[in-house]
Amino acid sequence: MSQSYISLALRQRVAEIARYRCGYCLTSQITIGIPLHIEHIVPLVSGGETVFENLWLACPSCNGYKGIRTHAIDPETNQEVPLFNPRIQKWKEHFAWSNDGVEILGLTPVGRATVLALKLNNEYIVPSRRVWVAVKLHPPTD
Ligand SMILES: [Zn+2]
Repeated sequence: MSQSYISLALRQRVAEIARYRCGYCLTSQITIGIPLHIEHIVPLVSGGETVFENLWLACPSCNGYKGIRTHAIDPETNQEVPLFNPRIQKWKEHFAWSNDGVEILGLTPVGRATVLALKLNNEYIVPSRRVWVAVKLHPPTD
């Protein structure tokens, strides 16, 4: 069994605690109709393990942009900071929605670096969020 094997039971546990939402952009699995990925917060290549404590849900976009990164540059201070950790940090302490609900604003160095590194306001998600706002599926209030 490979080091990255994730049992169905473990996937289910992670999906439930993550509430079937991407830990970074909060995109809901039910909204996009595509299974969210189980991601390693600390990547395997950096010594992260395939254990409940190191796993969370990420949408394919955030997971792809995150890749094996653990840190990124805060555009305001030019300092390298850790990426947001959805397991131990609170989303609302690092991010907020723009007034129209379509863009994610970074409130802290970690938030700003994560918005940029994971392209949380990329050209594909922003138009989708506009539609979700119009039908009152977005932004999440919790
Ligand atoms: Zn995402």
